Amino acid sequence: MIAVALLALLQVTAPPGMLTVRGATEEVTVPVVETNAGPAVRADLVAAPLGGRVRELAGGHYGVSFPGVEFDLVDQVPFALAGDEVVPLAAAPFLDGGRLYVPLQLVAETLPLHGRGVYYDAVHSELRLFGTSSPLLATTTTPILRVPSRAGTSARTAGRAAGRLEPSRAGARRRLVVVDAGHGGPDNGMTGPIGGKSKISEKDVTLAVARRLADALRARGVDVLMTRTRDTLIALGDRGRIANQNHGDLFISIHVNAANMAWKEPAAARGFETYFLAEAKTEEARRVERMENEAVRFETGVETSRGDPLNFIMNDMAQNEHLRESSDLATTIQEKLGMMHPGPSRGVKQANFAVLRTSFMPAVLVEIGFGTNPAEATFLADASRQRAIADAIAGAAVEYLAHYERRVGAGGR
Ligand SMILES: [Zn+2]
Repeated sequence: MIAVALLALLQVTAPPGMLTVRGATEEVTVPVVETNAGPAVRADLVAAPLGGRVRELAGGHYGVSFPGVEFDLVDQVPFALAGDEVVPLAAAPFLDGGRLYVPLQLVAETLPLHGRGVYYDAVHSELRLFGTSSPLLATTTTPILRVPSRAGTSARTAGRAAGRLEPSRAGARRRLVVVDAGHGGPDNGMTGPIGGKSKISEKDVTLAVARRLADALRARGVDVLMTRTRDTLIALGDRGRIANQNHGDLFISIHVNAANMAWKEPAAARGFETYFLAEAKTEEARRVERMENEAVRFETGVETSRGDPLNFIMNDMAQNEHLRESSDLATTIQEKLGMMHPGPSRGVKQANFAVLRTSFMPAVLVEIGFGTNPAEATFLADASRQRAIADAIAGAAVEYLAHYERRVGAGGR
């Protein structure tokens, strides 16, 4: 359903009929052909400027290579194999005049997610290697200026909370942190603990901690927007869109971890970890990524992130500029949580979370503990401990924002 909406959007957004492919040394314009299954492009023409190619393999398979990925495709089969992952396609690849054609979606959406350093710019209908110049890339590095929401409130107020964010100069705007409580509505997230009598649901814990985090941030002079304040399901893509539309400075998603039942002693797993968006580096990171991305299956029907697919395909490029910052923020959060959390720090990790993918700002996902561990489940459900977790994360966010303010301020804007 997302793919269909995506292609519909592409047709109105992009100059029809042409796709620009900008590689390291050459730029090629590739015709986009309209089929009754949607727009398609000749695979070899798109792959070549990016340094890839099309190989004919045994058994009717084709290998289409791009930086960082080779898709295994079969004529008339609407799925691609990327490594060992099966990826659904908007339409089946087909042969015409002995050439393999693939749906535009494969190169515009799937390739940026699975390849390395390839970005699709829907506005300019352009596929390019990251690092090649583009007008859009230049604009996304400029911080968005906003009118201060409450001009001058905090600058002269005495007796403020420790660690409060001070506007560095007159007219500096207040910062906005988007707080995202994971899961909700029919999507409970994880439930635990293993073998425990009283069960906790991830969606309740995340909402409680998110509310306390919002309070803690507001007490430090930061504006807050919550993606949900009730027990409702918000599509993963919409969470990021909410953040973008409101020009958030930071996006913090709160989650509760669950042990892998295949582990030797799953109930014993404890601790906290913070993720930022990037390709998942380890099998464990991929497991958590799969688990958190699963919420997508609850997103059926008309409420599903309509209008969002455009963000979805443009986001990789915008997000990449925030990787460093997101990683810094994740590190600060881990440090602060380490001062109050009874569990071990499991470190800063990277994974490709759908919820982070759609936010055009530094974004992190915090797994505040293991709900599968009986002691940690009790800890996570306790109101005063929730406040302490929220304080730790708020402290990290404010420290990070102050640091960022100094850096941006030094650069002048
Ligand atoms: Zn979760």
